[in-house]
Parts: sequence; C-alpha cells; structure tokens
Amino acid sequence: ADIANDLQKEVYQHLAYYVPKIYCRGPNPAPQREDMLAQHVLLGPMEWYLCGEDPAFGFPKLEQANKPSHLCGRVFKVGEPTYSCRDCAVDPTCVLCMECFLGSIHREHRYRMTTSGGGGFCDCGDTEAWKEGPYCQKHELNTSETPEEEDPLVHLPEDMVARAYNIFAITLKYAVDILTWEKENELPGLEMIEKSDTYYCMLFNDEVHTYEQVIYTLQKAVNCTQKEAIGFATTVDRDGRRSVRYGDFQYCDQAKSVIVRNTSRQTKPLKVQVMHSSIVAHQSFGLKLLTWLGSVIGYSDGLRRILCQVGLQEGPDGENSSLVDKLMLYDSKLWKGARNVYHQLFMSSLLMDLKYKKLFAIRFARNYRQLQRDYMEDDHERAVSVAALSVQLFTVPTLARMLITEENLMTTIIKTFMDHLRHRDIQGRFQFERYTALQAFKFRRVQSLILDLKYVLISKPTEWSDELRHKFLEGFDAFLELLKCMQGMDPITRQVGQHIEMEPEWEAAFTLQMKLTLVISMIQDWCALDEKVLIEAYKKCLTVLMQCHSGFTDGEQPIVLSMCGHSVETIRYCVSQEKVSIHLPVSRLLAGLHVLLSKTEVAYKFPELLPLSELSPPMLIEHPLRCLVLCAQVHAGMWRRNGFSLVNQIYYYHNVKCRREMFDKDIVMLQTGVSMMDPNHFLMIMLSRFELYQIFSTPDYGKRFSTENTNKDVVQQNNTLIEEMLYLIIMIVGERFSPGIGQVNATDEIKREIIHQLSIRPMAHSELVKALPEDENRETGMESVIEEVACFKKPGLTGRGLYELKPECARNFNLYFYHFSRAEQSKAEEAQRKLKRQNREDTALPPPALPPFCPLFASLVNILQSDVMLCIMGTILQWAVEHNGYAWSESMLQRVLHLLGMALQEEKQHLENLSEENVVTFTFTQKISRPGEAPNNSPSILAMLETLQNAPHLEVHKDMIRWILKTFNTIKKLRESSSASPVAETEGNIMEESSRDKDKAERKRKAEIARLRREKIMAQMSEMQRHFINENKELFQQTLEELDTSTSGVHENSPVISDAKLTALGPEQTRVAEHRQVVMCILCQEEQEVKVDSRAMVLAAFIQRSTVLSKNRNKITPDPEKYDPLFMHPDLSCGTHTGSCGHIMHAHCWQRYFDAVQAKEQRRQQRLRVHTSYDVENGEFLCPLCECLSNTVIPLLPPPRVLFNRLDFSGQPNLTQWIKTISQQIKALYLLRDEDCNSGNSEKMDQLQLPEGFRPDFKPKNPYSESIKEMLTTFGTATYKVGLKVHPNEEDPRVPIMCWGSCAYTIQTIERILADEDKPLFGHLPCRQDDCLTSLTRFAAAHWTVSSLSAVQGHFCTLLASLVPNEKNGNLPCILDIDMFHLLVSLVLSFPAIHCQDFSGVSLGTGDLHLFHLVTMAHIVQILLTSSTEENGMDQENTNSEEEVAVLTLYKFLCQCTGSALKEISSGWHLWRNLKAGIMPFLRCSALFFHYLNGVPAPSEIQVNGTNQFEHLCSYLSLPNNLTCLFQENSDILNKLIESWCSNNEVKRYLEGKRHAISYARESNKLIDLPDDYSCLINQASNFSCPKSGGDKSRAPTLCLVCGTMLCSQSYCCQTELEGEDVGACTAHTYTCGSGVGIFLRVRECQVLFLAGKTKGCFYPPPYLDDYGETDQGLRRGNPLHLCKERFKKIQKLWQQHSITEEIGHAQEANQTLVGIDWQHL
Ligand SMILES: [Zn+2]
Ligand SMILES: [Zn+2]
Ligand SMILES: [Zn+2]
Ligand SMILES: [Zn+2]
Ligand SMILES: [Zn+2]
Ligand SMILES: [Zn+2]
Ligand SMILES: [Zn+2]
Repeated sequence: ADIANDLQKEVYQHLAYYVPKIYCRGPNPAPQREDMLAQHVLLGPMEWYLCGEDPAFGFPKLEQANKPSHLCGRVFKVGEPTYSCRDCAVDPTCVLCMECFLGSIHREHRYRMTTSGGGGFCDCGDTEAWKEGPYCQKHELNTSETPEEEDPLVHLPEDMVARAYNIFAITLKYAVDILTWEKENELPGLEMIEKSDTYYCMLFNDEVHTYEQVIYTLQKAVNCTQKEAIGFATTVDRDGRRSVRYGDFQYCDQAKSVIVRNTSRQTKPLKVQVMHSSIVAHQSFGLKLLTWLGSVIGYSDGLRRILCQVGLQEGPDGENSSLVDKLMLYDSKLWKGARNVYHQLFMSSLLMDLKYKKLFAIRFARNYRQLQRDYMEDDHERAVSVAALSVQLFTVPTLARMLITEENLMTTIIKTFMDHLRHRDIQGRFQFERYTALQAFKFRRVQSLILDLKYVLISKPTEWSDELRHKFLEGFDAFLELLKCMQGMDPITRQVGQHIEMEPEWEAAFTLQMKLTLVISMIQDWCALDEKVLIEAYKKCLTVLMQCHSGFTDGEQPIVLSMCGHSVETIRYCVSQEKVSIHLPVSRLLAGLHVLLSKTEVAYKFPELLPLSELSPPMLIEHPLRCLVLCAQVHAGMWRRNGFSLVNQIYYYHNVKCRREMFDKDIVMLQTGVSMMDPNHFLMIMLSRFELYQIFSTPDYGKRFSTENTNKDVVQQNNTLIEEMLYLIIMIVGERFSPGIGQVNATDEIKREIIHQLSIRPMAHSELVKALPEDENRETGMESVIEEVACFKKPGLTGRGLYELKPECARNFNLYFYHFSRAEQSKAEEAQRKLKRQNREDTALPPPALPPFCPLFASLVNILQSDVMLCIMGTILQWAVEHNGYAWSESMLQRVLHLLGMALQEEKQHLENLSEENVVTFTFTQKISRPGEAPNNSPSILAMLETLQNAPHLEVHKDMIRWILKTFNTIKKLRESSSASPVAETEGNIMEESSRDKDKAERKRKAEIARLRREKIMAQMSEMQRHFINENKELFQQTLEELDTSTSGVHENSPVISDAKLTALGPEQTRVAEHRQVVMCILCQEEQEVKVDSRAMVLAAFIQRSTVLSKNRNKITPDPEKYDPLFMHPDLSCGTHTGSCGHIMHAHCWQRYFDAVQAKEQRRQQRLRVHTSYDVENGEFLCPLCECLSNTVIPLLPPPRVLFNRLDFSGQPNLTQWIKTISQQIKALYLLRDEDCNSGNSEKMDQLQLPEGFRPDFKPKNPYSESIKEMLTTFGTATYKVGLKVHPNEEDPRVPIMCWGSCAYTIQTIERILADEDKPLFGHLPCRQDDCLTSLTRFAAAHWTVSSLSAVQGHFCTLLASLVPNEKNGNLPCILDIDMFHLLVSLVLSFPAIHCQDFSGVSLGTGDLHLFHLVTMAHIVQILLTSSTEENGMDQENTNSEEEVAVLTLYKFLCQCTGSALKEISSGWHLWRNLKAGIMPFLRCSALFFHYLNGVPAPSEIQVNGTNQFEHLCSYLSLPNNLTCLFQENSDILNKLIESWCSNNEVKRYLEGKRHAISYARESNKLIDLPDDYSCLINQASNFSCPKSGGDKSRAPTLCLVCGTMLCSQSYCCQTELEGEDVGACTAHTYTCGSGVGIFLRVRECQVLFLAGKTKGCFYPPPYLDDYGETDQGLRRGNPLHLCKERFKKIQKLWQQHSITEEIGHAQEANQTLVGIDWQHL
C-alpha cells in the first residue's frame, strides 16, 4: 500500500507540473501539439510502468496472449448503418455493425437496416440478444472453446496485475476527481503550479438557445468576427463547451456578464463560467486519460477486468462511493464532450465484461431514481445522458429478470415515473390542463421512463420463480396505481348553446396513453404466461376498478326499464348531460385479462375457480358503453360545440396507434358483459344510454315523426343514433377474431385485418404496415399470412408495388368490420359491389360465416334472438314497410338486414356442427316466422321481408333480402333433414319464386345476353386499337407529341424527293422545294405564316449554362468580363444549352404576356414577400401553355441560307484556290481596317489589290422585318447574358459567338443522347427538340445580320487563322485545344459576313463545303495526334484496304512533321478503325447541323440503325468514304498546313508528355456508378467527416451524383460565401461542378436533391427500392434497399437532357411549400 501511495504522490507531482504546461496555453487549443506532448511526457511513462518494458513490445505481447472475448462491442458513430434481424433478434434494440452483419447468417434473413444516432454498440456475440446465430464469422467460438466464463486474469503475469491495479486506480481517480471538481481556485490533491493567474471564459451548450442567438451574442460579447463566432458555436454544440476568451479574471468576467445579459431576456441565460486555466488544463488531460484507459484495456481482457474492479470498488465513504457511482451521479453536471468520453469508456469496459456488467447494472438500478431526477433537471438530449445506458442493461433478459427480482426494478421505474407527474385533480387523476412550459418540457422527458419499462418487459420469462411472481405482481400494483390516475381523466361535458371558448388540452393524456399502449399489452402478455399470476392480477385489477367506481350509484334513485315482458333496474345517466371520459385504462386492462382467462384451461374445466362471481356485469359495461355512446353522439352531430379537440380524441380512440388498448377493449368489455347478462337487460340498458329507450319502448312512437312540427334535426339525430347502436350490436356479435373471444389463432386475426384493408383497394406494403398495429418488436405479423390472402404486383418506372386481394378471399368480407373508418367503409362497399358486378354476381354483401365463440363468451349469440332485439328489428322493418309515414333511413334497414343475416349464419352453423348430445337452442328462424301478438298483431319479420322484397324504393337492398330468404330456406331444409326441432310453418309462399319474379328473371337474362354481346364488340375494338398502337408505337408517340406542340405544317408538306443521293451541303446540295410554314399562336389562337417580312413568331425557350459534356470539372471559371469565348476548348468544360417546350407565340403576344407576369410578380412580392418558382427579374417566366420554365424566346425563321445563296455552279474553285482567294480577301479587310485607324495614310491603299469581285464597301441590306430583327437581338442578348453570366449588352462583339456556341453545344448534347440510347440520328427526336434545333440553327445563321459586320468578319478571320495561319493573328490556340465542331459551326455561320461582299460568283455553298472539309481534316489530324491506339488487344484482320494504306501514309507524314515524336504505329488497320470511331460524333453532329441549316432531308439509311452508317453519313455530308482522300486531293496546300499545325509548341509539349490533351472519341458523361446495396452508401457516408471541422462526422452527408464528391450539407461548418451570400456546401458545389445545377443523393434521408441556382430546388424519389417496390425516403422503414437501374437511368436522362431545372419548376409549381425552402443552405 505504501508503494502505491508513493506512486500516487509521484504521479500527481508530475501531472501538477506538466499538465498546465502542455494543455491550454492560450486562447486557442492546439490539439495536435497537445496530444503529441501528452503522449510523450505524460502517458508514455505510465505505459512503460504498466508494461514493465517498452510498450512498443509490451502491448503487442499482451494482445497476443489475450483470448479475446466473443463480443464485438463496436461503438456506433453517428450515421453508421446498423442491422437488426427480424427473425432472430430478441428485440429491435439488438443490432449488428456492418462488418458483423455481413459475416452473419442474418444477411439471408429478413433484416432491417437503420442508421445509428450514435451511442449504442454492436451486439454480436451476445447470446442473449439473438435467438439464432449470435456470432458472426469473426466472433465465432472455436469448437474447442467453451463459452463458460473463465477468469481473464489468469492470462496476465502477477506483477503486471499489481502494476495495472496501481496505475489504473491512480489515473481513474485523478480523472474522476478533476472532472467532478467544483472549486475554482484549488485542485484536488494537486498543487497549483501556475504562478500567473490566467482564466478562460467558458461557454456551455444548452438546448434552449439557437445557433443564431449564440452567434449573435458572441459577436457582441467577445468582439469576434462572424466566422469565429460560428466556429465557437459549432464547437459548443459538438463538445458541449468552448472557451471564448482567455486572459485575466476581469477580462473574462466582463465577457461573461455581456453574454448573460444578452441571453437572459426571454429564456434562462446561456451558461458561462470563468475558469482557472489550470483547472481547464487538468480537465482536458483527465478526458485524455479516460480515452487512454479505453485504448489500453483494448489490448487485454485481463486489463479490462482490472479496470472494472477499480471502477466499482467502494471507496471509504461506503454506498455510492465507487468512482463509477461518482461519475454517474455527476453526469447531468458534466458537459457533453466529457459525458461522451466516459460513456464510451463504460461501454468498452463495464458493458463488455459479463461479470461486471451485472454488478454495474445493480449500481445503475440502485441509482435509478437519482439518475432520472438529474436527467429531468438537465436539458441535454437523452442520447448524451447516462440514463440512456438503460437500453444496454435492461434489454438483456437475464439482467432484466435479476433486476426485477433483486432490485424490484419494475416498481422502481413506475414509482419514479409517478413521482414526476405530481399534478392531480381532486379525485387524484392526472391533470395536464394547466401545465406550464417547464412542466410540459419535463413531461416530454419523463416519457423516456416508459421506454425503460418497455425494455424491462420486452423479453418474457420462460420460467417463473415465486420471487419473480411476487415482484412482478408488486410492479403490477404500482402499474394499476398509475392507470388509476388515468381512469376518467380529461372528463368532458357536452356544450349546449354556445361554442366552447378555448379548446381544452387533450394531447398530453393521449400521448401518455399512446406511449403506454405497448406496455399495457406487454403486461398482459406476461400475465398470460402464468395462471397464478393471471388470476392474481385479475383480482387486483377488479379491486382497483371497483375503487374507481365507488360512489358510482350514490344518491341516485334507480330507474326501472321494461320492454317485451322483461324489466331491469339501472341508474339514471345521460351521456349528453353529464361528465364522460374517454380514458378508461383500468376497465380496458380488465377486459384484456378477461380474454386471457377465457383462453386458460381453468376457464374450460373449472370456471368456478375464476373470480367471476365478484363481477357486476352492469358495472363493467357502464363506462365503456358511455364512451361508445359518446362516439355515436359526436357522429350524430350532438357535440359540435365542443370543438376540434373532441373530434381529435375520437379519431385517436379508433386509430391504429391506440385502438388496441382503447376502442377494441371497450368492445371486449361489452362482449364480456353481454355474455354474463340477460341479453334483454343488456339491450334495454344500451337503449337507455343511447337515449333511444323511449322510441322503442313506446308503441307507435315513430308515428310522431310524421307530424310536421317535428324538429328535423332531432329526427336526423335519432336516426344516426339508431344506426350507430345497430352497428355496435353487429360489432359485439361479430368481432370474435381475437384468440380468447372466438376460437381463432393470432394469424386468423391478422389475416382478417389484411383482407379488409385490401377490400378497399390494392395497397403498397408500407400502407398495409401503417394500417396494422405493431407489437413491441415492431412486427405486424403480416409477412406470415400475406401470401395466403394477396398477390403482389411489381411497380413500373414510377409508383410502387401493390398487393391485391385474392378473389377467393372476398367472401370473408364484412361490410361492418369494426376497424373501418366511415370513409373506408363506403369505399370498400363500393369496391366490393363493383367486383361482384364484374363477376356477374348479385350485389348482396351478406355477413361472412364467423368462427364460434370460446365457452366463456358463448352465450353472447343469444342477443340476436332475444325478445328486445327482435322487437327492435321488427320495429325498424315496420317503419320501412310503411316508409312514407315514418322517419327511418336506408342505413338503418341495411344494418337490420345485416343482423338478420348474422343470425341466420349463426343458426346455420349451429345446425351444421350439430352433435348428438347437443340440442340446438338457437332458433332464430322460428322466432322471425312468428307474427306479433295482440294488441298490435304486427306481421312477422319474415312476412315484412317478403313485402320489402318487392318494394320499389328499396332496389339497392333487394339482392340482400333475397339472400336472407334463400338462407332461411336452406336452414329450413337443414332442420328437416336433421329432424331437429321443426320450424313452424311459414306464412306466405317463399319456397318458389313468384311468377312475377320468374318474369323478371327472364327479362334480366335477355338484358344480360345483350350486354355480353355489346361487351364483346367493345373488347374486339379495343383489341384492334391496341394492336394498331403497338405496331405504330413510334408514330403514335410522335403524334401525341405533335398534338402537344402546335407546330403545324412543318413536316406535312415535305417535298417528295427522289431516291437519288441526298447531299446536305456544298454546290451539289440537294435542292429542296420551299414550302409555306403556317403556325398558330398559343396566346391569341391566330395563324400566321413564317416569312422574312412578317411579324415575328417566337418559341418559348430556356437557356442555361451546362457542364453535362464537361471533361474537366476542376477548371477555374475565368473572369466573365474578360473571357474570350471564340474558341471552345475540346474539354467542353462549360457550354450554353438551349431548350424549348416547342410552344409558339407572336412576339408581341409574348411581350404582352411577359409584361403582365412581371407586373403581377412585382405586386405579389411587395405584398407577400414570397418567392416563386421562377425569377422574373432574370427574365424567367412559365410557358403560358405547359408551364415549362423559360427565360427567353427564339424567333422562327424561314431557311436563312436561301436568302444569300446564289446558286451558280459554274467554275467553282477547289479548296486550294478558295483558300487563296479568302486569304486575299482577309488581307484586304485587315488593310482596310488599319487604314480606318490611321486615316489619311493612303500609301497602303495603293498596295492593296482588291481580289476580283470583292467589294468590302458593300453593306448588305437586312432582309428581316423590324419585329424579327428585334427578336434576333433579344434572343442573342439572352444567350450572351446567361452563357457568360454578364449583364446584357447587345453591342458586345461576343454576342454572335455565344449564339453560334449555343447552337453547336446543343447539337452536341443531342447527338450524345441519341448515341447513348442507341437511336438513329434522324427521325427519333421528339417534335419539341426538332423544332428547337431548327429554330436555333436558323437563328444562329441569321444573327450576323443584326451584329456589327466588321466584328463578325473579324471573328471569321480569327477562326480561320487557327487553321490557315496569317501574319495578323498570332497566339491562337493550337489544334489540340480547339473543339472542331464548335469551330465548324462558327466558321460556317460567320462566313456570310465576308461572302456577302464577294461578287465573284463563288457560291456560299462552295465556301461551306471547303470550310467543312478543312475542319474535318484538322479534326483527323487532331485524332491521329492524340490517338492512344494500342496495337495489341484487338484481333487484326490482314486486309490492307485502300483506307488503311492511306491513313498509315498520313500518319507517317505526321510522324515526320512532329520530328518523330509521335508513337510509332505500323498497323493501318488499327489506325483506320480508331479514326473512324474518333470522328463519328463529329460527323453525326455535322450532319445534324447541315440538315437543320439547309433543310435537306436525311437519307432513309440514317433514319434507322444499320450497317454502313459511316458511308451513308459521308455521302450525305459530301465527303469521300476514304476520308484521307481529302488530304490527297489537296496535298499541295494541306502539307503546308499540317506542318504548321504540328510545329506548334503545344503539340510538341504534348508529344513529349508534358501536357495532357483530349483524345477522341470523347466518351459520354454518365452519373456516377451507385452500389446495388444502399447500406454501402450509408457506410461510406458514416466514414465521411466534415472537411472543415477536423475529423467531425458530417450530419447531412450528401453525394454529388455527377462527380461523386461527398459533401457536408446543411451545416454551418461548411457554408461558404458565393456572390456575397452564405451558401451551403451543395449550392457551392453546383457552381463548380454543374455551373449552378446539381444532382445529389442525401444519404441519411435516401432522397435525391435537385438544385438550380440559389433559390430553386426540389426533392426527387431515390433510385433505391425495397423488395416491395417502394422507396424509403427518410429511411424510416429500414427494409433492405437495392438500386433500381431503370429509375437511375431516368434521373440520368433528365440530367443529359438538361431537364433538371424544368423538373424543379414543375415540382415547385405543384407544391408551393417547396418554394419557401432555403435551398441555398443545403
Ligand atoms: Zn460488430
Ligand atoms: Zn461479430
Ligand atoms: Zn436472423
Ligand atoms: Zn398571338
Ligand atoms: Zn410550352
Ligand atoms: Zn461541415
Ligand atoms: Zn459534383
């Protein structure tokens, strides 16, 4: 001991000296440095001491010698996936970590997946947690091992045990002392070494103040920036405390008072403390030590046991003095971070050692009251309270049982719970009415105790000891006390006259009921397991119920009711006048126990042993009956003035969450009562409580209604009450599907529920689950029976999988099923009648045959044949017969018919199951055949039915009446054959169908035949139609789309073109006859022809920046003001996409519409300050027809080239000549321009020799009307504005470039979509895209006419110079860095600006062709230079075709030009294949471009997929099949050009491997690959930590589906500033990754997120489905989820088609709440 004491002294001295030197040396902690020093100076020596050698050797040795436990015990991180097996887990709190799960048998079982909220641990290896397969492969027992406990200390050397004991005792005590230390200027057993006093102002976390409040306050109090304040607030929220100021006491105290002052106004102030820096330092190290201990015991189970021993050892102060007790009891005073650390240590030590887990559980149970009291005072969430450890202890079956018997835990929990609900009324019942905010807050917290009670009860005992019985019944007593406080709470009185002023509080009582529901059920389950317990419990419950009823009849004079010769005494009580309560848990518990008794053997054999004699049936039924009458009266509208709170209570009373222990049990209680009473007495009391006694006991009472001065409301009310009462009788007799009431088992009950749900309509799995009550294991039992009653239908691309009721189950349908809501009932009735009609059956919905009652309830059926019942039914039938004279309703009659049917079914079954010794006492048929006695002499019920059968006003019920009469006859026959007591002769003739009926039947048959014939013809027709549609699917779809778009006439009049070869461009371009294009304006419905000189027609269009084709998402966007977009880089990093819905308007109509929208929005925003789904200020609007988001319009134009193309084919120059001429023209233009600058200098003019026919002074006349010109400018400016993100400026020379670029980019995207879908190039675009491309191309071709001519000429010259160099244009991008298709489009579309001044007779088409050839050749060189051809890998055919030889020659020439830097390739075959593949996208884009530009129809061969596409394309594009011929034909000029291209420095650098270049063909971009199993993603996300707050777990990890980046979304830590606003990580990411548009997967929510810009966003269903074909947004259901490839493809297509923004627009229009979300913070 001395040695130990000396050691402690030394260690303390060491710590006192060094800890303050290492920790907290300034305003900001430096965790890495601190950790490093602490390890070196403080922990290292302890490790040496512990191991007795270098720990680098010592610890591995320990680990090797260790026999690891079979428990996994992995502590879950927040968001980590956990798995529970629905087949084998003892309760749903038993979970596995991902690794264990994957190595377990449960992955083949029905498992459930959730994400951990942090704090729990993996239960792998805990044999008590799993019914089967407790071990995964990793934690499996070796066969040689026995699972028995063995002392782990035997594996440790003795001296080490001693040393471990010493060091653990010292360090753990140090840590506990310092963490629980409360003095300010002193340290526990340590010297204050620090001479200079420095302090921290420490801010603590609370759950009251918001982030914003804290941030705001900090900025004021400690004068920090917002960023720093956010940093402080984030740490406070995460760790529970953070120092916000460092300095002398005053300096810190000053900050403290500012914070307190600022936050104390509305609520309690933020907790702030000024702490001595030494204390803070030691506390930091104390936490470090706890973590260290956790890791050290990880090496050896022996060490772990020693630590447990040290922790639980009682100190000198006796009870509660162990270090573990000290920490636990100090929990609520510790800050969050400290709690987390020590809870983790508890979990890895005490909870992993089976022996000490038990000892710890006892400590926990003994401290239970105190811990809960502390938790109640504390405001932290439960997850960070030590109280939450209950789940780890109480759910272990052996521990729970031990704690109940030895520590009386059940009673403790219930009493503790009661302690916290002190507020009672005079009768001692709970009263929530006048709760303060604080009481309400505590009420919420105290509910977690119910959870503890549930844990304790969740696993039921297999064996009962006397001690367990004793303690359970003691707990049961306490529980009854609790229920007693609930019995009759929140009583209500009917409000008459005025409406209530304030809705009374009702939710608290229902919350309590709802939370207790499962516990009540579980207590019954426990009772069911042991007869002795059950009978004792029953007696106790009965006693308490009698206490509740005491005073029940006090001072009341009993009244006597008599009817049909029976009379009964009862009390005078009116629900509509006196107090009534919905809360009757004691009655209901008794009802539950009664059913259990009924199941026992005693009930069959020795019912006299049951305490039944003590029951007073009228007392039992009284309160449940009142409650049911209340429901009926509410339904009859008698309680309208009591407001919504009552309606809500009635709703919950019947709701699936509560009904099992409310409504259902009330019915059981009535059933119990009836089975023990004379049914006539019961019915009279019932009539009296329904306030209907007068009506049925007074003969001819009903006649009074016929007089005119009757209050119609009262009549209506009484009718509803009668209906409700009949319904109640139907339920009392018919609801026998609970085991114990009827002779059924549990699966029959669940089957019946499902059948009735599916009778309403087919349902998804989740809907069914919601409609069924769940047990404590969250199971409904549905899976075990669903196959028997339903078929599953898989979902399509949208929607979900559905279960459909099997046809044979329809006969079990009961229209008056007691769990139907009224709406459900009428829906089910309609559906079932429809089904019957479809099957050509009669539409009667008779009651189904029912299972027999259990003996205890058997006498209940007699209610059907009781005199009072017959009287009630007879009276109502009588009213129906004389229907004009009485107030009655069809529903009333329908219910009576149903009851009659039930009685007949009953009698029939009795007869069918007749055994020798039994006499059938059920003689309903006999009774209804008897006419009434004098003086009324009313006809018999049977006779009245016959009359009603032919009543014209009862057409709907005829089938049912017929069914009743038929069944009557069947029974009669049965009686005769069994020679049982014969039925009296019936009056009238019901044996044969009357002649009138026969007649009718004949007519019906004929009508039926006619109907069948009609149906057959209809079927044939629809079959033909379907066939037609199938065959012409494409056509049909197109017509549909055409119907949608209003473009008419465009496609209709295509000229018939001969089979001759079609050529899209050049001098040999196929001539296309012009045709008129007439279109209709969607706004004014006027038609107009599209002509150059008419008013402009426009298409609604949406322009957006796009990165869909990007091959480089990391590119930094250049300054838009300076950026020159003339050349598009082949990485296509950002393009401008134009889309359109294809709807056409007059330009002026659109203008007017847009002005109106703008004006309206401005008014709306001023008034409501709401956002809309579109941003008017940015020019956005919704298409007036389809509400598609648009931001500009494209003008419709006639083919533009026709206007300028002078078709004259004589003597056209070849490429070489043409380039020469053009070069001269360019030179002339440059000279002229220079001359413009230095006017007066005419010297140069002399040098200038204008090429023949070139007239640079010529200014062409603009052919378009003013209105078209205006629209050309409008659209051009919009493209410029959006594409470059700049302010609109129509003068900017970059406007035309952006227009050409958008045309090129849009064509490229469409080409990619077609290629990805493997669709032919032409003929498969939806009309809207076809129209859009036509107008876009024509627009881009015409735009130069509204731009500055010289600017466009300048662009052309520069563009051309990139291929044909001239002296003027230096410093152009090398050919590796130019997207050739963009170049082609720009060249071709700017060329007219020069050509219009050329009068030499060269046609525009010639220029197009040469430009096209030139760019194509450049592209070929580009492809060959960047080709990454691998010669091996592919089987080479030895053909050596012409093309292969030629391309090899060209390649060799390239090698030569590049100074042999090019990789040597000798296979022409490979080169040619590669070239063809590489150039295809370019050729396809070009074909689309020239098609839309010149309007030449595409040859039929490229309208289908087929072979030789390449050849057909070449032919259409006027290219030789052997592309390299182009070079040969123009070799003189081309060799020079190639040399110039190859000599570029960038090309050299590339070939030397010093830079990268795009190679061809570029692959299409796809969304990232997603794993099949969703839990992979959850796991990935749980390993992801916030990139900004050093290793912290992100709360909303979100995956970018475009690039795969994981982001920390919706969190302050990762907000960044974007254009002057704070935005979340997702929004910020969209700006770099998707130029404003983003597609994300929110991993925790399993939800797809679409974002566009800062204000637009929507959620979209994820592409993950469970086995039932349903998504699980929010991951609430936990079914395994798998990727649905089709749905993911659909999302990908939305992205590729640039429809994300449109999709958001539609979603926001459909759901306005989406507009209000701050999307930019995600
Ligand atoms: Zn595990
Ligand atoms: Zn395991
Ligand atoms: Zn399993
Ligand atoms: Zn119009
Ligand atoms: Zn539209
Ligand atoms: Zn973050
Ligand atoms: Zn991304």
